[in-house]
Amino acid sequence: MSEKFQAVVIGGGPGGYVCAIRLSQLGIKTACIESRGTLGGTCLNIGCIPSKSLLNLSENFNKAKNFSKLGIEIGKVKLNLNKMMKNKDKAVTVLTKGVEFLLKKNKVTYYKGTGSFQSSNKISIIDNQKKEILIEAEKTIISTGSEPVSLQSIKFDEKIIVSSTGALSLKNVPKKMVVVGGGYIGLEMGSVWSRLGTEVHVIEFLDHITPGMDKEISKEFMKILEKQGINFHLQTKVESIKKNNKGATVFTIDKDKKKNNFGCDVVLISVGRKPNTKSLNLDSIGVLLDDKKRIKIDKNFQTSIKNIYAIGDVIKGPMLAHKAEEEGIAVAEIIVGQSGHVNYDIIPGVIYTSPEVASIGKTEEQLKELNQKYKVGKFPFMANSRAKAIDESEGFVKILANEITDKVLGVHIIGPHAGDMIAEMAIAMEFGASSEDIARTCHAHPTFSEALKEAALSVDKRAIHS
Ligand SMILES: Cc1cc2nc3c(=O)[nH]c(=O)nc-3n(C[C@H](O)[C@H](O)[C@H](O)COP(=O)(O)OP(=O)(O)OC[C@H]3O[C@@H](n4cnc5c(N)ncnc54)[C@H](O)[C@@H]3O)c2cc1C
Repeated sequence: MSEKFQAVVIGGGPGGYVCAIRLSQLGIKTACIESRGTLGGTCLNIGCIPSKSLLNLSENFNKAKNFSKLGIEIGKVKLNLNKMMKNKDKAVTVLTKGVEFLLKKNKVTYYKGTGSFQSSNKISIIDNQKKEILIEAEKTIISTGSEPVSLQSIKFDEKIIVSSTGALSLKNVPKKMVVVGGGYIGLEMGSVWSRLGTEVHVIEFLDHITPGMDKEISKEFMKILEKQGINFHLQTKVESIKKNNKGATVFTIDKDKKKNNFGCDVVLISVGRKPNTKSLNLDSIGVLLDDKKRIKIDKNFQTSIKNIYAIGDVIKGPMLAHKAEEEGIAVAEIIVGQSGHVNYDIIPGVIYTSPEVASIGKTEEQLKELNQKYKVGKFPFMANSRAKAIDESEGFVKILANEITDKVLGVHIIGPHAGDMIAEMAIAMEFGASSEDIARTCHAHPTFSEALKEAALSVDKRAIHS
C-alpha cells in the first residue's frame, strides 16, 4: 500500500521546503521530495549562499590587502583558496542540515529521490539506489526550480567551461576568466575571482549590463566595477568557444562587425536559467507549459490540472529565492482556503557586489513607458556621514514618486548595505508610503539609511546635506 498525503511538494528548494513547512503548520499531512541529497535547492547548495559566502570572503581578502593604508599592520596577506572553499562548504552544510531539521520539527515527511507523476495523484520516487517508492497525493505542488542554460550547443564541463556551479568551486585562481553575460550572477562571480587575482572580461550582447535595472544605476554600477578592474565588452556577441589544452578561446564579434578573441583559463557562461521540468513526466498527465517552457499557472498557482500547483523558478516571474518563498506560503494558504497572496510589484532585487545594488518597484524607464508622471529624489553616499566615516561612499539612492500623489513608485540604491536598506523601502511601499512619509521619519544618525531620508527629502528639493 502506498502512503497517502494530503499534499506532496516536489523540490526542496526555498519555494518547496517553505511551502511544505507552511502546509504542515496549517494541519496538512505533507511530504517533500528532493533529488539532490540535501535540502535548500539551488539557493542553499549552489546559488545564493555559497556565492554570498565567497563574495564576503573575497571582499575580506581584498580589504585585508589594504589594511596597512588604514594603519592596521598585519604582515603579508596570503590566499588559501582551499580553506576559503571549505569555509563556504561549511556554511552550505550547516544551512542545508538546518532545513532538514526544520522539516522534521514541522513533521513533514522527507523523501530523498526523484519524483515523477504516474497520474495526477500518484507519484513515483526513485532513490539513488534506483529503488522505487510510490506515494499518493491529494494535491501536489511542483517546485523543481531551474538550471543554467548554455550557449548554442556548448556543454558545461564545470572546469574550463563553467556555469555558476563550477565557478563556485574552482580549484585554482584562474589567470584570466571570460564571463559571458553581464547579469547579476556573472557580475557577482566575476567580482569574486577578480578580487582573488583573476583578470576578468565580461562579454555582454546589450549596450548595458544588468538588463532590467534602472539605467542610471546600471551605468554607475559598471563604472564602479571598471574601477575595480573588471573589463567590459558591450554590444559584443560570442560566436563560438573552443577548448584547448590550456583553457579556451572565446571568439566574439562586436556591433561594428569587428571580430576578436579572448584566450582564457576559464569561461563562465551566465546567460540565464531555464525551468527544470524534465524529470516530472508532465506530458503524460497534461500539465501545460508556456512558450518559455515554464509551467503555466492561474492566479492561484493552479496548473492545467486541478490538483497540481507550481511555484518558484519553474513558473513565470523573477528567478529569486524570496519570490519562491512568498509563493510557497501563498499557495499553502490558498490550498487550505485562505487568501494567500504575493505582491509582484514589490519584490526587491539585490546584487551582492561591493558596493551592493538593490532595487524595488518601477525603474525610470518603466515609468516613462507607462506614461506615468513622476518626481525624482537622489542623494549621494558621498554626503552620508557614516559612508564617509568608513570610506565606502560610492553610489547613491534614487527615489521615484508619483508627481501628483507623491506615492513611492520605485527605489534604487547603489551603495554600502543597499541589500539591507531596501527592506525599509519594501515596507514603506507595502503600506503605500509617499516620499513625504519617508522624509518625515526619524532615521538614526550616523547610518547609511539616512541617505534614504535625504533622497526622499530631495524629491521635493529640500535635502539638507547636499
Ligand atoms: C549562483 C547563484 C546565485 C544566486 N543568488 C541569489 C540571491 O542572492 N538571491 C536570490 O534571491 N536568488 C538567488 N539565486 C536564485 C535562487 O537560487 C533561485 O531563485 C531559487 O533557488 C529558486 O527556488 P526554487 O525553490 O524555485 O528552486 P530551486 O532552489 O532550484 O530548488 C528546486 C529543487 O528541486 C529539486 N528537483 C528538481 N527536480 C526534481 C524532481 N523531479 N524530484 C525531486 N526533486 C527535484 C532540485 O534538485 C532542487 O534542489 C541565485 C542563483 C544562482 C545560480
